[in-house]
Amino acid sequence: MSRTLRARLGSGLLGLALLLPAAVATPASAAAADFPSGYTGYHTYAEMVADVAAVVAAHPTIARRMSIGRSYQGRTIWAVKISDNVALDEDEPEVLFDGLTHSDEHMGLEMTLRIMHWLVDGYGTTTRITNIVDSREIWIILGVNPDGAEYDIAGGHFHFWRKNRQPNAGTSAIGTDVNRNFGYRWGGGGRTSSNPAAITYRGPYAFSTPEARNVRDFLASRVVNGRQQIRTAITFHEAGRLVMWPYGYTLANIPVDMTTDDHIALAIIGKHMAATSGYRPEQASDLYITSGTTRDYEYGKYRIFAYTFELSVVDYPDDALIPSETGRNKEAVLYLIERAWCPLSVLGATVRTARCGAFDDDLEVSRGWRANLDGTDTATVGAWQRGDPQPTTTSAGRKQPDTVPSGRYAFITGTAAGTSPNANDLDGGRTTTTSPAIDLPAAANQKLQFRWTFADDAAAVTGDELRVEVLDATTSTTTTVFLTHGTATQRNAGWHLASIDLAAFAGHSIQLRFSATDAGTNSLVEAGFDDVRVTRP
Ligand SMILES: [Zn+2]
Repeated sequence: MSRTLRARLGSGLLGLALLLPAAVATPASAAAADFPSGYTGYHTYAEMVADVAAVVAAHPTIARRMSIGRSYQGRTIWAVKISDNVALDEDEPEVLFDGLTHSDEHMGLEMTLRIMHWLVDGYGTTTRITNIVDSREIWIILGVNPDGAEYDIAGGHFHFWRKNRQPNAGTSAIGTDVNRNFGYRWGGGGRTSSNPAAITYRGPYAFSTPEARNVRDFLASRVVNGRQQIRTAITFHEAGRLVMWPYGYTLANIPVDMTTDDHIALAIIGKHMAATSGYRPEQASDLYITSGTTRDYEYGKYRIFAYTFELSVVDYPDDALIPSETGRNKEAVLYLIERAWCPLSVLGATVRTARCGAFDDDLEVSRGWRANLDGTDTATVGAWQRGDPQPTTTSAGRKQPDTVPSGRYAFITGTAAGTSPNANDLDGGRTTTTSPAIDLPAAANQKLQFRWTFADDAAAVTGDELRVEVLDATTSTTTTVFLTHGTATQRNAGWHLASIDLAAFAGHSIQLRFSATDAGTNSLVEAGFDDVRVTRP
């Protein structure tokens, strides 16, 4: 049994494997000998594998390779990690580079190989790169879509092949556009097609391609302690000499699934990189609208500051252009790795203090908060939900807010309005949600800051409350650091800022527990919070 077939059997795809023609199940037989004349400086799949193997063998303390899965035809997809103490998963900001998602864009693979060489060759010889490798964990995916790339050069001439090599049911048309197959706004508007014969065929469903699933699963594997470790990323395409930031799926600069801070910082970083490369900076949709792309998925799901670079002026640049077309992006690549410590830091000193500390959660995406962690919650209705609140209003005023302080989501006691203000408020007791662990530096002047709202009606009692506690794992203590409670008078929704000194917890590992309680009967209680931060000392 071939290794490929065994792998497919192991993943439960027996039926599929048996339907594959022999040439597909044995990729080695389909391996391209080399690029056409004038392009032999580009790496075939086999040459790339050999280069990666040589680099990790020569630099075992700072470079490791790992498989992140297999292509449709069974080729191993290699990722290289570069960092000091490379065998350890250290608490360092992470960065991701990938290329060759479109298999006729071979410069993308060359770009990722160059980055790998810059980092391992520069380590110990240039201060800047030594600092980068010591303080970051850099991931490089070497060729997302090798099946397409090998086919593109098969027979000694180019086939202008962009998609993967996966057959499509009910048609002889081969392949899916992997950069339309990601599961964020998949199937939306713009240059994405439901026709299997189209070069922008999106696939029958999101993540129908193993190539997109490999990247998806790798990204998911970098969620540690509820939080995505990768902060910045570039996916390399060609051509056009462009730097593009999210989103591609809409012409809106700041749609509901992007915050104003993120938009401004994405553009600042993108414009800076473009200036150093001599590229044109723009929002991805300024080129044309696309849906289901790598970049939109990385930002939309994880808030990774993800960019698409379109390399080169022309398609199929000859190999003499590899050094200059990759080299012109070296400064941009190093800059983005450095920015990974806190991309929002480009917004200035005030934002740097507020948002580059030990914790920063605008609650726009899932970052590891856990409901009812100790199993003692008693609320029967209106438990904490992270979402977009629907407003509720009584004759006395607004009880559940319509808007949140940033973006579109906050934690709210039951986001739905229900049939009346009293229908979906908090009832029956206490609801809790607890943050992931936060390792506070030992420095002074760290503050816990968050926005909060608490509303009640005239039936409220003192036991109705919004409470924030610090669960200190270092001292095994629980400390209430914020409390507001009900009174028998009307209190309407409104967002307020809390700022709490964390000096007592400096150097400790803590979690934050937000709890809301309805202790009385027939009282109306609504609570919410957003923008939870530990400020930078
Ligand atoms: Zn492309």
